[in-house]
Amino acid sequence: MSFSTLGLSAPILKALNEEGYLNPTPIQSKAIPVILQKKDVLAGAQTGTGKTAGFTLPLLELLSQKTSSNEKKHIRALILTPTRELAAQVGQSVETYGKYLPIKSTVIFGGVGINPQIATLKKGVDILTATPGRLLDHVGQKTIDLSKIEFLILDEADRMLDMGFINDIKKVLALLPKNRQNLLFSATFSDEIKELADNLLNSPVLLEVARRNETGGGISQAVYILDKEKKRELLAHLIKDGSWKQVLVFTRTKHGANKLCEYLIGKEITASAIHGNKSQGARTKALEDFKSGSVRVLVATDIAARGIDIDLLPHVVNFELPNISEDYVHRIGRTGRAGNVGSAISLVCGEELEYLNGIQRLIKQEIKQITLDGFTSKQVYVAEVKPQRGRGNNPSRDQKIRTERNARNGGASAISTKDGQPKRDNNKDRKPWEKDKKSTHSDDRGQKSYGSHSKTDSKPQKNTKFSQGKKY
Ligand code: AMP
Repeated sequence: MSFSTLGLSAPILKALNEEGYLNPTPIQSKAIPVILQKKDVLAGAQTGTGKTAGFTLPLLELLSQKTSSNEKKHIRALILTPTRELAAQVGQSVETYGKYLPIKSTVIFGGVGINPQIATLKKGVDILTATPGRLLDHVGQKTIDLSKIEFLILDEADRMLDMGFINDIKKVLALLPKNRQNLLFSATFSDEIKELADNLLNSPVLLEVARRNETGGGISQAVYILDKEKKRELLAHLIKDGSWKQVLVFTRTKHGANKLCEYLIGKEITASAIHGNKSQGARTKALEDFKSGSVRVLVATDIAARGIDIDLLPHVVNFELPNISEDYVHRIGRTGRAGNVGSAISLVCGEELEYLNGIQRLIKQEIKQITLDGFTSKQVYVAEVKPQRGRGNNPSRDQKIRTERNARNGGASAISTKDGQPKRDNNKDRKPWEKDKKSTHSDDRGQKSYGSHSKTDSKPQKNTKFSQGKKY
């Protein structure tokens, strides 16, 4: 299938062509026609599936059908995202795909000055991408008018709820006109998401792209079971021995991220840390250095890593396992993206074995265990994959941990920032779906056909009555 069969007009096709996008991804081929039919959509798609273009392209198409370059602009489409990084990436996609259309867009998020945002909004925009906190700041200052919104998109809705944004979202929804098209994208479907969808969407079409953990996907997973004190030594060994050029390492704490970074630098491995205590400028720089290849290792906490989009990331390491099993899926989803091959390695010590069991039960698969001389634990580990009563995946326990973590972090808005805007990696040579020239990148980043691991279902749902409640 090609983009030209999906109902997109010439200016959009031209922009896609320039980006080097040859074929739509599964979520794009499913979502674009349905959105063009003006239907509400509930889509299950992780980052890395091409979901952003999946909603941005039809949105641009619909808006451009009723736009003239002369008329005074007002906000017609609102895209809400959980993080600044994701807002910036989505905003950049809107600009890129819409560059031959008379459509204006902007991005607003916290941590940077509000006045330039006010000035841009005053001039008039069609599409606004925003994080909920800063959007409400504008509402409070009456510098924004949401009364003419025709399209609402909630991107990574599960992350937004996870970060404690539900009340902010409800406040925003109360300001929107009732008659509009709604699109909700989420990687996972908790009861909270189902409730939100039920209250927000009108007879939505359900679109689903299988998560990689369900398909085997392009990610090879492995665990090393070893003593805690040996972890950093093993990590340095793996990086050096495997000549890893780019690895994203997850730690559970900000302090742990800093310490690990210092250790790696001491071992002459270039590394930077990205976490909530760093300013927006420092986070942006760390990300850019990592993307450009001047830094080999990016050490991140879960909160800071949200929304990071790096094409062809070959290695992810869990220096510590997350205590919420679902976070494991989000973490390893950073590699093996866009149909490429990636490796996800977890370093697990005795006290984390219960987390490992929980993860294996969630992904319904035993993760391959690797032993390496000098790095083994005396602990004998027998994997538990089958669900056990009262153990492992425990939604209420996980929700409690999330709530505590969000309170500690104060949601995204508590992250102290000063200056700088996160930028998308514009390296066009690194688009994952481009065919031949990509295979020259690296021998451990093999190419896969996208269509092979997708599971889609575009049947219209009569009514997703997950709970009783009023429509927003
Ligand atoms: P997303 O899941 O929206 O974060 O997209 C992941 C990456 O895939 C981004 O870097 C996009 O630029 C890229 N991408 C999205 N759709 C396509 C496509 N059809 N062909 C090539 N690259 C794409």
